[in-house]
Amino acid sequence: MSNENKTIHEFDFNLICEFFSNMKRQGPGSPEVTLKALGFVDNLTEQSRVADLGCGTGGQTMTLAQHTRGKITGLDLFPDFINIFNRNARRLGLQDRVKGIVGSMDNLPFQHGELDLIWSEGAIYNIGFERGLNEWRKYLKTGGYIAVTESSWFTDERPVEINNFWMNAYPEIDTIPHQIAKIHEAGYLPVATFVLPENCWTEHYFAPKVAVQEMFLDKYAGNKTVEEFVRLQYHEEELYRKYKKFYGYVFFIAKKIE
Ligand code: SAH
Repeated sequence: MSNENKTIHEFDFNLICEFFSNMKRQGPGSPEVTLKALGFVDNLTEQSRVADLGCGTGGQTMTLAQHTRGKITGLDLFPDFINIFNRNARRLGLQDRVKGIVGSMDNLPFQHGELDLIWSEGAIYNIGFERGLNEWRKYLKTGGYIAVTESSWFTDERPVEINNFWMNAYPEIDTIPHQIAKIHEAGYLPVATFVLPENCWTEHYFAPKVAVQEMFLDKYAGNKTVEEFVRLQYHEEELYRKYKKFYGYVFFIAKKIE
C-alpha cells in the first residue's frame, strides 16, 4: 500500500469513527426491542456476569444495565467508542458495575464458563454469525444465554439489486430457518426469535444518521471522501425503504443447556 493510500485509508477509518461517535447507537435497534429480548433471559442475579460484544458507545448496554443486576462488560474494537461508553456509564451512575474495555470479539478476555449472558446487537457479523456462535459458547456457563441480532433474508428469492448489495456487504446473511439451524448446530437451544420492527431502522437509526450526515457535509464541505461516504449512507437507506420486505434484523435468543 502506498503512503498516499494509507493516509486516505486512515482518514476513512477516523472519519467513520467520528461519524458514528455522534450517534446513540451504531446499528438498528431500540430500547423496547432490547428489553423484549431480555424478557426471554431468566437466570440473572446480582452475581451475574454479562458481556456486550461490539457494544459501540453502549446505547443498548445502558438499557440492559438499568434492567438487570450484576456486572456488565462492554467490549469494542474502537477506543473512541469505549471512551464515550464509559462516560455514559458514569453519567448514569452505573460505573461500578458497567465497564467498557477495548478488545476484539475474536480474542475475548473472559474465562471459560464465566458468563451468564452474551449480548451482541448488530455486531456478530464482524466475525460471522456461525463463527461467533461457535467461538463464544465456551465463555458461557451451562444455563447461560446468548442474545444477538443479525441481518436475515425474509424470503428465499429476492430482487437482484438487493441480493447483490448483500452478497457484496455480508454474504453470510441467510434465511431465519437456516440461522436457527446454525444456532442448534452450535450447541444451543433456540429459545426465541423475532424480527426487529421497522422503527428500529427508521426512527432509531436512519433519522439520527441523517442529522449527522448533514452536520458532516457542513463540517467537511468540499471534501470528496466525506461526500462519497454520505452518498453511500443515503444509498443504504434508500435500499432499505425499497426492499424492506426482503430483509431486516432479527433477534435470536438461545440457551446453552449442556
Ligand atoms: N452494538 C452497538 C454497535 C453496533 S455497530 C449498537 O447496536 O448500537 C458494530 C460495532 O462492532 C462497532 O461499534 C464496531 O466498532 C464493533 N466492532 C467491529 N469489529 C469488532 C471486533 N473485531 N471486535 C469488537 N468489536 C468490533
